[in-house]
Amino acid sequence: MDNGQHILIGAYRDTLALMRAVGVDLDQVLHRQALSLRYPDGTGLRLPPGNALPAFVRGVWAWRDLRPGERLRLLMLAAKWRLQGFRCAPGTTVSELARHCPPMAYRDLLEPLCVAALNTPAERASAQVLLTVLRDALFSGPGSSDLLLPKAPLDRLFPAPALDWLRRHGATLQMGHRVMGLDLAPGRVEIDGLSFDHVILAAPPNEAARLMAPIAPAWSQVAASFSYQPIVTAWIRAPGLTWPEPMTALRADGLRPAQFAFHLGALGGPADTYALVISGAERWVDEGAEATRQALLAQWAEQFSGPVDWLGSRTEKRATFACTPALVRPGSRPHARISAAGDHVQGPYPATLEGAVRSGLAAVAAIA
Ligand SMILES: Cc1cc2nc3c(=O)[nH]c(=O)nc-3n(C[C@H](O)[C@H](O)[C@H](O)COP(=O)(O)OP(=O)(O)OC[C@H]3O[C@@H](n4cnc5c(N)ncnc54)[C@H](O)[C@@H]3O)c2cc1C
Repeated sequence: MDNGQHILIGAYRDTLALMRAVGVDLDQVLHRQALSLRYPDGTGLRLPPGNALPAFVRGVWAWRDLRPGERLRLLMLAAKWRLQGFRCAPGTTVSELARHCPPMAYRDLLEPLCVAALNTPAERASAQVLLTVLRDALFSGPGSSDLLLPKAPLDRLFPAPALDWLRRHGATLQMGHRVMGLDLAPGRVEIDGLSFDHVILAAPPNEAARLMAPIAPAWSQVAASFSYQPIVTAWIRAPGLTWPEPMTALRADGLRPAQFAFHLGALGGPADTYALVISGAERWVDEGAEATRQALLAQWAEQFSGPVDWLGSRTEKRATFACTPALVRPGSRPHARISAAGDHVQGPYPATLEGAVRSGLAAVAAIA
């Protein structure tokens, strides 16, 4: 099992291009479906296939859980965001941005999209970052709002083929080596005694902060200042269920922790196995593992019948940085000979695979 369920979307332009470039057959490793935030009772939004913008309009108009007036209000709100160029005051939270949104559309669409994309509860999440994600996912080219669900372990989606590609292109790889220190020498940077003319530092923020502290203390301080949000993933076996799609949204609240569940059996994983995901899981980490397990099993039993085996769970305490309004992120060039890359480096995206890839490509382009 991976350290947690990952979702890609069609708008992950650079991630998908990089996967192709290292020889990954996207159709083999990703299940593509139109954006669907359907709940087990059949309610929720599902977009039809096609160009993202018309699909969004048609999808909202066909969303029968909302009254026609509410659908219209949601479409007008989206039109307003578009007219404003998907920009808002930097200090705005998602719940402030959406105060004129029909309550059900907020609960069943914006809140789950926000916690899935930003891993931060809507009342604390950056509206500007969510608007950027919505612009790229819902208002871009064909397929950009599609969900791409991994049909293979994450390692096979990119890291393993990327390492093969690097070997074939003559790179020297040193796996399993924790870099202990960076030192400056005239015209060079030394990594644990090995000398280079330029370094791309692609470690997570806390580790990048440690390595840069002696060289660029101000940059290091910014990198060390993130607060984090956990993600909890739990796996269960539940035989005999039939789901229309491999992913379902779940209604989460103070008693029900998970926002999404995935049928791994339908995604090339073990039969009858499901992953339950709690994003922005701070509260449930505080509650403790046993309370979370009980709450997840109760939430499951409310929606689905039949026997359930608990297979285990994993808590990533620092899964992503908390994507709060006006967050200050470290820049991409802490030193003339050192570039920084990773999802946390200054950029328009939340902590996502696409954010990390774009930052890596930008670091390479700047050196080239
Ligand atoms: C449970 C979970 C679910 C997620 N779900 C999604 C999702 O659905 N969609 C999505 O887009 N994103 C998701 N993310 C976020 C996504 O995984 C990250 O944004 C992405 O992996 C960040 O990539 P990165 O290269 O910046 O950092 P990392 O992937 O953290 O890579 C940093 C690397 O640096 C290495 N390293 C650290 N210190 C050193 C050192 N001193 N020397 C050498 N190497 C070092 C680490 O071992 C690691 O390999 C999820 C994250 C988690 C934890």
